[in-house]
Amino acid sequence: MRRRTKIVATLGPASDDEKTLCKMIEAGLDVARLNFSHGDESDHRRRAAAFRSAAAQMHRDVGLMGDLQGPKIRIKRFEHGSVHLNEGDAFFLDSQLDLMAGNQEGVGVALETLHEDVSAGDILLLNDGMITLTVDRVEGTRIHTTAVNSGILSDHKGINLKGGGLSAPALTDIDRANIKLAAELEMDFLAVSFVRSGEDIEEARRLFLEAGGNGIIVAKIERTEAVENIDSIIDAADVIMVARGDLGVEMGYAELTGIQKRLIEATRSKYKIAITATQMMESMIQNPIPTRAEVSDVANAVIDGTDAVMLSGETAVGEYPSEAIRSMASVCIGAEKYPNQAGRTGRRSEDKFDKVDEAIAMAVMYTAKHVDVKAIIALTESGSTTRWMSRVRSDIPIYALTPYHATSRRVALYRGVYPVEFEMAETDRDQLYAAIFETLLSKELVEVDDLVIFTKGDSKGVSGGTNAMKILKVTA
Ligand code: PEP
Repeated sequence: MRRRTKIVATLGPASDDEKTLCKMIEAGLDVARLNFSHGDESDHRRRAAAFRSAAAQMHRDVGLMGDLQGPKIRIKRFEHGSVHLNEGDAFFLDSQLDLMAGNQEGVGVALETLHEDVSAGDILLLNDGMITLTVDRVEGTRIHTTAVNSGILSDHKGINLKGGGLSAPALTDIDRANIKLAAELEMDFLAVSFVRSGEDIEEARRLFLEAGGNGIIVAKIERTEAVENIDSIIDAADVIMVARGDLGVEMGYAELTGIQKRLIEATRSKYKIAITATQMMESMIQNPIPTRAEVSDVANAVIDGTDAVMLSGETAVGEYPSEAIRSMASVCIGAEKYPNQAGRTGRRSEDKFDKVDEAIAMAVMYTAKHVDVKAIIALTESGSTTRWMSRVRSDIPIYALTPYHATSRRVALYRGVYPVEFEMAETDRDQLYAAIFETLLSKELVEVDDLVIFTKGDSKGVSGGTNAMKILKVTA
């Protein structure tokens, strides 16, 4: 069985050499993620070049995603690097405190307006929730708090406000510079962190396009406001990432699984793409096999209908980067044998379709379920027809035949869609089918006498122009 769920893996020091990158691609990586929160411009350039070179060696169209760091709010630094807080300790946060002046009494914060966003009774979560502070009172820029638990707090740790509400804008100056870098490095996906609304996505898309970027936009859902505004964000974005790290801190981890299911369903029902991220195989940073709980987490995301599952530290800093991908791939295949019949695309039989290619895509999937079809073959410019099709749950492979590598790298993320390089040189209909069958037979993707459904548009060079479907028998 061919794996339908795709794998996004984060690059980092553990995956810097080309040999490791080749092994990761061989193990099943579909899209690599460069996290702009770690490393500098030269690291990003070097990693992007090494990844592209490994992909060329492996003859694979794998995607590259740039992930903006966003306005992650952090404390400043301590005189001695860290402090040990005890439950009940008084501790202040103050944006006006010098960078290095933190001590047992308090520490600086990097967000100038933090004191305007909080009031007595609020709960601040530091270091991914490892330290909880209750706000007692706010005096000028100084926020007086009490530590709810004991623990070590060190330089630059992140701050979240429980329940959300911090006013930091989604795009910082560093993000704006990294959008230009992502465009220059021809990244296939641009991930926007800490978005609050569809407008944040529109702004990122505008800047990316202005910089010459050609990739599609991923909205990372990690703030309470993003969950509240999810419809406008899904409408504005191409891909939604359930970024469970920060989301779990802000909204509390108890409801995270339910929120994940809702987000994936909402994304699929609007024909968009979903990635499930963070700590999926976390123990594989140190161990060669995952825990059963991690296996179950990946499998549940697959059964929820996610397009892709993501690895972070496992492949960026872990000891077993290619093993983590291989394990994840096998769990995906295992879970795909148990499809969830509920939660199909939100479209119902009485719905009207907005576009011709959407109508064709749905007709294809309906037909494929009622005829013994072995594959769906779409001649596609932008990949949009295959995206519509892949929103319908099915175990039939969808081959996206395209001459454009950028389209191939994009559809690499779509569940059940596999890019196939194909130059549409033939204008004669029979010669075109013969060329398609020859390509697919040579790659052992179909067999002679298989029934397949084929879609295409009339006009070459027009994206979204699919207006025809045909049922064909493969001939040699
Ligand atoms: C997350 O918070 O879950 C996430 C994916 O974002 P990052 O890895 O950038 O913190």
